[in-house]
This record gives sequence, C-alpha cells and structure tokens, in this order.
Amino acid sequence: MSVTATVQNQMLEFVRELYPVCRSITGEGVRATLGRMANEVALTVREIDSGTQVFDWKVPDEWNVSDAYIESLDGKRVVDLQDNSLHVVSYSVPVDATLSLDELKPHLHTIPDRPDWIPYRTSYYKRDWGFCLRHDQYSSLGQGPYRVRIDSTLEKGSLTYGELLVPGRSQREILVWSHCCHPSLCNDNLSGLAVSLWWAKHLLSNPTPRFSYRFVWGPGTIGSISWLATNENRHDRVIGGLVTVLLGRPGEFHYKRSRSGDSMIDRVVERVLTRRAPGAVVRDFDPYGYDERQFGSPGINIPVGRLSRVPNGEYPEYHTSADNLELISAEALAEALDICMEVGNELDGAEIYLNAAPNCEPQLGKRGLYRATGGDDVAFDELALLWVLNQSDGTKSIVDIAERSGLTVESLRVAATKLLDVGLLKAL
Ligand code: ZN
Repeated sequence: MSVTATVQNQMLEFVRELYPVCRSITGEGVRATLGRMANEVALTVREIDSGTQVFDWKVPDEWNVSDAYIESLDGKRVVDLQDNSLHVVSYSVPVDATLSLDELKPHLHTIPDRPDWIPYRTSYYKRDWGFCLRHDQYSSLGQGPYRVRIDSTLEKGSLTYGELLVPGRSQREILVWSHCCHPSLCNDNLSGLAVSLWWAKHLLSNPTPRFSYRFVWGPGTIGSISWLATNENRHDRVIGGLVTVLLGRPGEFHYKRSRSGDSMIDRVVERVLTRRAPGAVVRDFDPYGYDERQFGSPGINIPVGRLSRVPNGEYPEYHTSADNLELISAEALAEALDICMEVGNELDGAEIYLNAAPNCEPQLGKRGLYRATGGDDVAFDELALLWVLNQSDGTKSIVDIAERSGLTVESLRVAATKLLDVGLLKAL
C-alpha cells in the first residue's frame, strides 16, 4: 500500500478533531468543519441563501444550536448536548418548558434493541423538536417534571459547501462528492471527508493529472441538489465522479455503479477493485442511498458511482452513537485512500477521444489509412482504427476499448495517433 503511516495518522487525527462538532445541513458546524479542511487545501467556501429555489426544493433556513438539555428540577442535567451532539434532534426548534415525563415522551428517541446506543435523528423539513438518548437511561427516568431547553435558532441564513478544483491537463472533470452534514458520527461521514481530502492533497502534490478533479464537500441531498442547480453550466464538463462515503469501518469495499452502469468511472473503479480489493462487492445503481441518486436523476444523468465499505443500513452501528472513533481504523481509511489514488492512476492512463466524423464510417482510404485493394484480409492496425473510431463517443477510454476489442492498448494508441493526425479524432 502506498499510503504512508504519517498520512494514516493524519486522517485519523482529522476525524478525531471533528468528531465532537455538531454539524447539520446548514450552520456553524459545517463552516467549522470546512474551516478545518481549509487548513489542508485551499478550498473555496460557498454560501447559498436560505429560500433559494433549487430545482423542486428550497434551501432551508439555517439552523444553529448552542445548548440543549433535559434537567431535573434540582438542576441536574440528565441529557446534555455538551456530552454528545447526537442528543438533540437536528433542526429542533427552540424550546423552554417544564414537562412531565408523559408530556416529554413523544419527543424522546431511543433504540430499544441497543439500549446503550444513542440514535441519530433529524427533522429538517418538519418543524419539531426532540432528544435522542440511550434506552437504558430512558427506562430509568422518573415521572418528573423536567426542565427542557433547546437554545437553537432557525432563521434566514445560508447553506454552506466547500469546493476545490485540482486542475488537470484536460478541462474535463472528475467530480468527487462527500457529505459533511452529520454530527458526531465517524464512519458516516467523517471517513469520507478524510479520504477525499487526502486524495485531493495527493493530487495537488503530484504531477498534473490528465483530468481535472472537482472536490465538493456539502450537505447530503439538499447540498448536491443545490450544487447541481447552481452549476448547470458545468455539468457537461463532468465525465464521471464518485461519492466517497462510509470508508472508515473495516469491511469489504462496495461499489455502487452509476445510473447507466456502464460508464467509464464504473469500469475504472471495477478494474481497480479487482486488482486491489479482492472480495469487493459491485452493485448496480438504485435510486436510494446518498448523493449519487441526485447525479443519477434522469435530467442530470452525470455518471457518478459510490465507493463505500459496508453500505448504509447494513451494519448495526449505522446512524447511532456506536459510529464512533472505536468503529473506524487508520488502516481502513488508508486502504480506501489507496483505492482512490489507484483510480486516479488508472484515469491518468485513460485517454478518451471523440470521433470527429461519427456519422457512419469515415472514408479511411482517401486519407491513406486503409488498404487500397478490396477483398484482402483486414490488417491488424486497420481493425484498431475501426475499434477506436467506433467506440470513441466520449464515454470510453482506450483501456475500455482494449478490454472490449481484445486488442492491446499499445495498438489502439498507435491507431489513435494516426486518427488524430488526420483530424478524425479529438482528445477530451
Ligand atoms: Zn447518513
């Protein structure tokens, strides 16, 4: 593995530092997180005003919380946001009330099957409030009354995301997306932030890559919708992308294909996983999950796959307080970064061309590229010319064409050079 022990420890330390921060889809927690990331790379922080229409959605009001607790009347805090940012339901409206246990109960969330874990709950689009706590603690609560207080604000502000462009030799972009909106959860998705951030650092400190890379760190769902709605002029530049998520908990890698299932990024990632992560699971696209489903909506249709280890909802600690520092490992983060770096290497070797005369076969003979006498066996290099011309629709690399045709990458490169010389091919 090419990830050094120093980088492994840096990624783990990054997760450790950001773990306590109370993040949500908007607010100071996201800004603090992006601020810490800006110590590593020169990312740009962008803000989109609350109320902005983004396709069928509106950017919500900004939520911030400074304190939240349930207190017995003698002043003892029984549930305290300061202990764990999962204790308050994200987007809770402000509350200051004295309630009996029965009045309080509809606002309390637990996991009865896992009585020592705190669940993670949100109420972004319905004005509500609540607390999350261990079921053990819930069961031991007396009848009260309790003083209940949530010092939150939910008002006009903005949605924040961070963006970094790593320029390549081509202006065509690979988009890397990680959500940054979850509070104290390590695998979901501080792990994805760490891996994508160190991938960006790696790209910046090495020779210019073939393609440009656009890293975007924003809130889940509303963040990718907002980015897509406010960057419509950039969609065409993106030739593929990856959502990097759930990469810190040891377990098999899982790749979820883009919507088409057959895009260049799918083939590249699958080749890398076959080489580097035997046992990795490849799944077809489905319209449920993380932000890949926005990139894969029919009107957008940008080929973005998702790289994770064990997916959301398929490991018991998912969206609970057990997704903590003990769940993840430096080695798991490093293996994930290694896969990403290898995807980058593979993309570096992946010339992509566009057939400049795509309507039927161009006439090769008049350009000196085809045998003069009909009826001969088709020469080897002529076959390479035909394969390159036929497959070069901007979605397949030379490596993909080699796989499909059974010809060598070298012979296809020779053919591509000849076609470039006579103007029948354009490089992307
Ligand atoms: Zn999640």
